[in-house]
Amino acid sequence: MAAGVHGRACDTGRMSEQIVPHGPAAGTPSSGAAAGTRLDRWLGSYAQRTHGMRASEIRALFAVANRPEVVSLAGGMPFLDGLPLDTLSELAARVVTERGLQALQYGSGQGDERLREQILEVMRLQAIDAHPDDVVVTTGSQQALDLVTRVFVDPGDVVVAEAPSYVGALGVFRAYEAEVVHVPLDEHGLVPEALDETLTALAAAGRRVKLIYTIPNFHNPAGVSLSLERRPRVLEIAARHGVLVVEDDPYGLLGFEGEPRPAMRSLDDEGVLYLGSFSKTFAPGYRVGWVVAPHAVREKLVLASESAILCPSSASQIAISTYLATCDWRGQVKSYREMYRERRDATLDALAEHLPDSTWTVPDGGFYTWVRLPDGLDAKDMLPRAVTARVAYVPGTAFYFDGSGADHLRLSFCYPTPERIREGVRRLGAVVAAEREL
Ligand code: PMP
Repeated sequence: MAAGVHGRACDTGRMSEQIVPHGPAAGTPSSGAAAGTRLDRWLGSYAQRTHGMRASEIRALFAVANRPEVVSLAGGMPFLDGLPLDTLSELAARVVTERGLQALQYGSGQGDERLREQILEVMRLQAIDAHPDDVVVTTGSQQALDLVTRVFVDPGDVVVAEAPSYVGALGVFRAYEAEVVHVPLDEHGLVPEALDETLTALAAAGRRVKLIYTIPNFHNPAGVSLSLERRPRVLEIAARHGVLVVEDDPYGLLGFEGEPRPAMRSLDDEGVLYLGSFSKTFAPGYRVGWVVAPHAVREKLVLASESAILCPSSASQIAISTYLATCDWRGQVKSYREMYRERRDATLDALAEHLPDSTWTVPDGGFYTWVRLPDGLDAKDMLPRAVTARVAYVPGTAFYFDGSGADHLRLSFCYPTPERIREGVRRLGAVVAAEREL
């Protein structure tokens, strides 16, 4: 048997030896320069759309925030330690032994049919009544954001989004050269009157508004939810102005009290694109999300997805489908809700104790609270001193298209334990107090 061809089945050790270094071949003029100082010889070749691309402030922070001595209230990573790993590893083995030839093969561009039926069951908890044909499975809802933007947005088009808004969505809109116009939110979510005024002003200015992007439940980063009373009003305004609503809802099942709220999509089949995800209610590593779209839009999304990735991962879809069919996923969601509620409580108690002159939102679900610092303080400017004091957060500037919002910061309470949260907020309080004396 020829070595390296039919050798060990999973020879990960050898793979690293085969990696070919990037960059110019040895002997070319710049090959001796250190990697960090090399000039980019392709600088003149990049597409226009890449000019707005930049690393998010969160990404730059991750390296520091992940050091064990730092309490990171920065990233929005779900806490997975409660997952039944033994059961999941049996499940992974079953996926290969029972359905391996399907799991390891290409699949449908729209996504596995059985999984799409199961997704309907999940969405029924939020009163969404759809057909499996309306569902497109994606590689996380992040890919859904990319597809929707690719299908609808030309350079210079406007996307209306809450102020603040999800940093990952702003990055997608920027990459497609959209302009984002923010509309304020308050403790009841997006303000309908402000939305109406903004859309009227944009129409008067001759601007083409393509999408209203909203996170109605447990907003990232603001922590607030769109009230039930406002939902039909937002939809009526969007319909009157002829603008499609993108309802991004990865946290919808993670409410701390009562039943999940009906989704906006449950009120309007034609005017809303609903984006869902298993990342927060199960595990982000499988990278499975979905879009529910009106029929014609769904076709465009499938074509766009096929050109990007051919099909979503069959192995991930079958793993999630098997999980939904054989495990107590409702019980898992319930235990996440209880865990995150305890962490929310720890965060709010610690804020009241240690940041007496700041204000913050009171989330009734999800991962985040949005803190307004005392007048004159700048969260971005303060961040290096916070990290020195071993606590990390995301400055508000990350969540605005124009980089405003420096008087706010986002605290994520999803990952650290309640004890660590209390210690982190105590450290943050000391940093804020010292800042006021500067
Ligand atoms: N939308 C929002 C509001 C999010 O917070 C996130 C993840 N942080 C995403 C979309 C993307 O999630 P995923 O791709 O893991 O489904």
